[in-house]
Amino acid sequence: MTYSAWFESVSGGDDRYPLNEVIYRCPKSGSLLEVVHDYEALGRRSAAAWMRLFDERYGRTSWPFGSGVWSKHEWVQPQVHPDNVVSLYEGNTNLFWADRYGRSIGLDDLWVKQCGTSHTGSFKDLGMTVLVSSVKQMISEGKPIRALACASTGDTSAALAAYGAAAGIPVIVLLPKGKISAAQLVQPIANGALVCSLDTDFDGCMRVVEHLTEDPHIYLANSMNSLRVEGQKTISVEIVQQFDWEVPDWVLVPGGNLGNVSAIAKGFSLMKRLGIISHLPRLVCCQAERANPLYLAYQRAAAAGRDLSEEDFAPVEAKDTLASAIRIGNPVSLPKAIKALLETRGIVEQASEAELADAVARADRTGMFNCPHTGVALACLEKLVAKGTIRKGERVVVISTAHGLKFTEFKARYHEQALDGVPSAHANLPIDMGREPVQVAEQIHRLLDQRGL
Ligand SMILES: *Cc1c(COP(=O)(O)O)cnc(C)c1O
Repeated sequence: MTYSAWFESVSGGDDRYPLNEVIYRCPKSGSLLEVVHDYEALGRRSAAAWMRLFDERYGRTSWPFGSGVWSKHEWVQPQVHPDNVVSLYEGNTNLFWADRYGRSIGLDDLWVKQCGTSHTGSFKDLGMTVLVSSVKQMISEGKPIRALACASTGDTSAALAAYGAAAGIPVIVLLPKGKISAAQLVQPIANGALVCSLDTDFDGCMRVVEHLTEDPHIYLANSMNSLRVEGQKTISVEIVQQFDWEVPDWVLVPGGNLGNVSAIAKGFSLMKRLGIISHLPRLVCCQAERANPLYLAYQRAAAAGRDLSEEDFAPVEAKDTLASAIRIGNPVSLPKAIKALLETRGIVEQASEAELADAVARADRTGMFNCPHTGVALACLEKLVAKGTIRKGERVVVISTAHGLKFTEFKARYHEQALDGVPSAHANLPIDMGREPVQVAEQIHRLLDQRGL
């Protein structure tokens, strides 16, 4: 094997743990682990040769390189043999040129990376393929793993259930009762997972799964498991590849448990290290105002005139929000996210319920079909453009994290003006017109005239 990777503690130290060990935290410090690659080995191939290799593999059928994640096999999980890869051809998603919406908010070069256009309808597929493939590899090596388990706000469980089912590995999902969408609940049910509905919120489900996976036969699939970060980081590589290997100025991503903001920074840092890009974009972590512990920490640090650090952070009780997948008050990946923000001169912004819902509707009117989390990122973008932080000519990418079809109740209720505290400025309802051709046509013409079309 030419390339290798291992776990190290995020809080420093030289100890290494193999990727096929059942381990989620540093046994000495209790800190999170991160996957570290043999960068020297990766650096032996030139930047130009990496770019050529990835361009050759892009979207092809030779297993498993047609997957957006596994086309970057050497950078992701070099210790998984292709025979053990569990892939549903995730990644390679559209980088939507948001020209009309961008211009409407004062930007000339806005793009939306449609990561939710994926097998289970969210970007969680990117990390889950890496985790489940790694477990399949471990099982093939004789590790006695009985099941995979996760706590979820809906999308992680859908992804785990699908990849587990594709691999034939049993899956347990722990969900907060009544706090996820119908589409998200039906996914693990359909894929045959053991679906546990708990009388608590996501943070409560997380406490249960941490206890459950103290038994090493049940493997933890939450993003605390840093194997998933390796798949999520390919988002950054794909964006740069889609811009013909140029780096954007800004990347905005909605943040809940904060694994993804750190994954995106990790992808860009690796490309910088290998000479593929010359500098990092600035990241914006976008939180819902009703689940905003990182935003509050960022404000505290700013008020004191210092860099963001863990001392500024205090967990909050996350309140109900339309952006249910980021309703998290005590994010597991906080230390990694802080590092990512410092490294990229990142910022944290927040959006209220009305702001996120209206941003979704405005962007949908230009041809998108956004989920509420993407709405949080779009609303934060609108605010940062209005403040002059993000400027007209800059190249901006918004990460769209899930497919709008997973959140049709939210969208229907918006247009019915039935969301609490949301004025629904862009509501659009069907109009009853009977069935007589002449009368229907008359009404249509009157409406077109009224609307000045
Ligand atoms: C998981 C998720 C997020 C947030 O990712 P974190 O790593 O938890 O910050 C955002 N949007 C959607 C749709 C998600 O499923």
